[in-house]
Amino acid sequence: MQKGALLYEGKAKRLYATEDANLLISEFKDDLTAFNGAKKAQEQGKGALNNKISAELFKLLEANGVPTHFVSLLDENHMLHKKAKMIMIEVIVRNIATGSLSKNLGITEGTVLPFTLVEFDYKNDALGDPKLNDQHCLILNLVQDQSELEMLRTLARKVNDILRPYFAKKGLNLVDFKLEFGRDAQGNILLADEISPDNCRFWDMTTGEKMDKDRFRQGLGGLKVAYEQVLERIMGEDK
Ligand code: 5GP
Repeated sequence: MQKGALLYEGKAKRLYATEDANLLISEFKDDLTAFNGAKKAQEQGKGALNNKISAELFKLLEANGVPTHFVSLLDENHMLHKKAKMIMIEVIVRNIATGSLSKNLGITEGTVLPFTLVEFDYKNDALGDPKLNDQHCLILNLVQDQSELEMLRTLARKVNDILRPYFAKKGLNLVDFKLEFGRDAQGNILLADEISPDNCRFWDMTTGEKMDKDRFRQGLGGLKVAYEQVLERIMGEDK
């Protein structure tokens, strides 16, 4: 499958048309951004790592009954996937308090939440991705009705129920993550975008070390080594 016209360039990926109107190609870039684009850098090989990690996780989720946009891994930096009209909601799933949850609500970093929290953020850089409640989502017409919001929550919890024990067996604590969904040509809701250390937080279960984009956000260094570790653990034997 050949890359056609460039359709869109985001912060971490470029999106290309293909000869099939129902399929697109994503190119995973080496660019790193944080704080709504205010902090920028490049890390050679980061795009390829996220492409491979996402492909493995999409395959795992699909095999466990989560519909995803993934079709195939094309090469180091390219993934073939179904075309989906994106739902402009970032679905955030949290098992442990950190990041904006700790900052906004004063919950001590590292507190294990009494139940898995699912939140919605508006996917809107100009507004700084503000928090949404269900009524906001309906007023903004981000979904057709309340039942679609319930479906997003159910799918997000299902993803967590699959990934959390999967990573635990690999010695990684799945702290929180962000999902994006879209609708295919038939209107079915699919998990889209990527699932990688760019949009998940992983803490090593033994050392507590951060193995995700917080290494860049917090200036800790060693980002590529951490992403390589995540891929190695995915591809390797369970602990
Ligand atoms: P927080 O709201 O604490 O900053 O982020 C919660 C989780 O969602 C983290 O795993 C973070 O990586 C992910 N996340 C939230 N918003 C974004 C975003 O705009 N881009 C990316 N790549 N990840 C996000």
